[in-house]
Amino acid sequence: MDIARRLAPRFAARAAGYDAAGDFPVDDFADLRDAGLFGLMVPTRLGGLGAGFAEYARVAYELARGNGATALVFNMHASVTGALAGVPDVMVEALGVPEHFFAARDRILADAAAGRWYAVAMSERGVGSRLSQLSTSYTREPDGSWRIKGAKSFCSGAGHSDGYLVAARSTADPSLVSQFLVPAGAPGLTVEPTWDALGMRATGSHDVHLDLTVPEDALVGAVEGLALLVAQLMPHWMVASYAAVYVGVARAAVDAAVSHSRERRLAGLPNVRSRIGRADAAVAAAKLTVDEAARRVDEAPGDEETNRWVWRAKYLAGTTAAEVAASMLEAAGTSATRRGHPLERLYRDARCGSLQPATSDVCADWLGVAALGGDPESDGTAPRW
Ligand SMILES: Cc1cc2nc3c(=O)[nH]c(=O)nc-3n(C[C@H](O)[C@H](O)[C@H](O)COP(=O)(O)OP(=O)(O)OC[C@H]3O[C@@H](n4cnc5c(N)ncnc54)[C@H](O)[C@@H]3O)c2cc1C
Repeated sequence: MDIARRLAPRFAARAAGYDAAGDFPVDDFADLRDAGLFGLMVPTRLGGLGAGFAEYARVAYELARGNGATALVFNMHASVTGALAGVPDVMVEALGVPEHFFAARDRILADAAAGRWYAVAMSERGVGSRLSQLSTSYTREPDGSWRIKGAKSFCSGAGHSDGYLVAARSTADPSLVSQFLVPAGAPGLTVEPTWDALGMRATGSHDVHLDLTVPEDALVGAVEGLALLVAQLMPHWMVASYAAVYVGVARAAVDAAVSHSRERRLAGLPNVRSRIGRADAAVAAAKLTVDEAARRVDEAPGDEETNRWVWRAKYLAGTTAAEVAASMLEAAGTSATRRGHPLERLYRDARCGSLQPATSDVCADWLGVAALGGDPESDGTAPRW
């Protein structure tokens, strides 16, 4: 937390430049590496900081107050390392995962603590993050290696990360969706610079093309077909890890509106004050929900009630960020819509929260099915993943 609070103002000072250029925040990532934060989720026995989900959520919130884009890319790395570190050994054994999984897992985590970071290459054009619909495929070669072919989109940090967690479907059995850790320099991996979007412009979420072979131990989990299972057993990393990021973005919007109102002598206007007051309360409520979900994830991961809080957290974070940033812009006035004004960027960044899966509409559907006594994982109109 101390590190994150120290870094946030540095990130904030650089945020406008990276956003305007649509550049990846290289200096922010150098700071994260130097501070040892790539090892945030890595157990202390492997050289990391040994954080749990609640600590991650607090760190992500602080980083996002500096630059939401930096915090969002960092979230992808935290999801890879946090999910790997968080799978209980008993569950791994129950899934029949072979012994060599533990050595491979520890190597990935120790590398992260030493300064490597991973991007997530899951989504695809026309498919989004629906794991069950992926067109990227993998085939087992006779020597045990894996041949992976396909194209990914929206891969935050593409071209800058040290490795990619790639999700793909088996050609032998298309019901199996697996994940592979592909090193950044692997021959056959190319990044196509496509990211030029409304918000979170500094995430460098470019397309990635894959036509390559990776060794046998690149299969994460050492057993095929774990990706969908992990999404259901540990929905917090798929659904709600961004929630803290977007609440941080929302808080940054309130802070920016307060500074602007003081500078422009708007603070005496009752409508400006009440907009800021309502926004302050909404952000505090969303943050409490994220903190409660995160606390439950640490205490009872995957539990029915925990998952309900996880989906609530994602819903409230995404919706609150978009609404609060829009209201703060309106309170600040047209001068805050000029390119380079913090509120102009925060308005666009905040807009992405409810669009990122699980979208606010999908979260609302999940929560509605649960409230009506159905099974929210299977009673949706379309597969959740
Ligand atoms: C800033 C940013 C960074 C990202 N970074 C990454 C990354 O690093 N790695 C990565 O793999 N992906 C990343 N993504 C992509 C993200 O995970 C999604 O895959 C992507 O946003 C899906 O977009 P889509 O256009 O396919 O829309 P969809 O998510 O398919 O949404 C289209 C519409 O369909 C609805 N919908 C979607 N699913 C369902 C359902 N099950 N039931 C009912 N309605 C549904 C939605 O609510 C929406 O109205 C990022 C996205 C953003 C915005």
